[in-house]
Amino acid sequence: MPRYAIISDIHGNLHALHAVLSRMADLDVQEVVCLGDIVGYGPAPSECLDLVVKYCSVIVRGNHDEAVVDMRCASEFNGAARQAIHWTHQVLGPMHHDALNRLKYVEVLEDTVTCIHDCPAPGPSDYVHDSVMAALAFNGMETPICLLGHTHVPVVFEAPPRTNAPVSPGKVIAHLPHDGEPIMLEREHRYICNPGSVGQPRDADPRASFAVLDTDAMTFTMHRESYDIAGAQAETQRVGLPNILAERLAIGA
Ligand code: ZN
Repeated sequence: MPRYAIISDIHGNLHALHAVLSRMADLDVQEVVCLGDIVGYGPAPSECLDLVVKYCSVIVRGNHDEAVVDMRCASEFNGAARQAIHWTHQVLGPMHHDALNRLKYVEVLEDTVTCIHDCPAPGPSDYVHDSVMAALAFNGMETPICLLGHTHVPVVFEAPPRTNAPVSPGKVIAHLPHDGEPIMLEREHRYICNPGSVGQPRDADPRASFAVLDTDAMTFTMHRESYDIAGAQAETQRVGLPNILAERLAIGA
């Protein structure tokens, strides 16, 4: 079974995506999985979508990907995000709209790894940020591992082996990943793994974030990669996207 590179929340940041793809070349990965939000916020949606389609064997649909092709969803976003969705909708051509439209919400690897952008269970929020939401997600999961993004914060949640009783938040352990340090996944336990965001990290570390899932060694390893943030900011400003979307890249927020 292969080693998978896991990328998510690229958000049209080509500078960050290039840096991550070239780092991956050193990490002996056989397949690349994308957890969605390829576009939205950033100035290079077409180029990012082309690279994701070229390199990823599995891609799921994010909420920004969806809003760009179905503008009825755009009203749910805040001002700068909504402006970026309108801008992205206009600059993408019909082939790119079609590529986004064909993405599924959920894909499953090896019958054991669910790939989804946000949360595998309906609830009060679709952001799996804490043990309350993670418990809800575990109770909606049918595989031992779920890969998800959406929060732009790397984390691994662990739950004990499945029983007939639902998982309670007190039983969930949160592991904070460190750059290059594998987190061991125990065979009988269950995991929700978030690789963080390639193009707009929000954990106060502005470097691009991604991860490697090794289903033989049973490890999940987050990696951080520096990239040309000033270049990404200049491009964001050049195309006329809101300034806040450039500024936040420098602080990882
Ligand atoms: Zn996102």
